[in-house]
Amino acid sequence: MFKWFGKVNFVPYTKVGEFAGHLKNGKIMGTKCKKCGTVTFPPRADCEKCMESDWEFHQYSGKAKLVTFTQISAAPTGFEDMAPYTIGVADLPEGGRVLAWVKDIDLKDLRIGMDMKLVPRIFEEIPEIKLYYTLEKP
Ligand SMILES: [Zn+2]
Repeated sequence: MFKWFGKVNFVPYTKVGEFAGHLKNGKIMGTKCKKCGTVTFPPRADCEKCMESDWEFHQYSGKAKLVTFTQISAAPTGFEDMAPYTIGVADLPEGGRVLAWVKDIDLKDLRIGMDMKLVPRIFEEIPEIKLYYTLEKP
């Protein structure tokens, strides 16, 4: 489950710089297939519906609806310093679903179905782009 967490490795190399630029501006990007119009999040190089590889970035609003959440007290390798922390899964109205850290909200205040705001963040210090998202109060 945590293998892919925080990583973007499905966007072709030439597009990664552009993607990072959008993120630095706080824009959340999915991909939109130029052939069938399917919008996907996270971004991917091939359309999940028709496998077309001609796509463009599609900006997401950042709106998210909490589907489920859990508190992690025994963190996986590399995350020990951060435990306990809360992660949530949220549906995005434009299409797609995201697994993200929950930031600055008490566990007791979380409700399934509540509105959240999705915020993109980058680990700047790592040369390879590592990206993660946080779910925050809207
Ligand atoms: Zn398509």
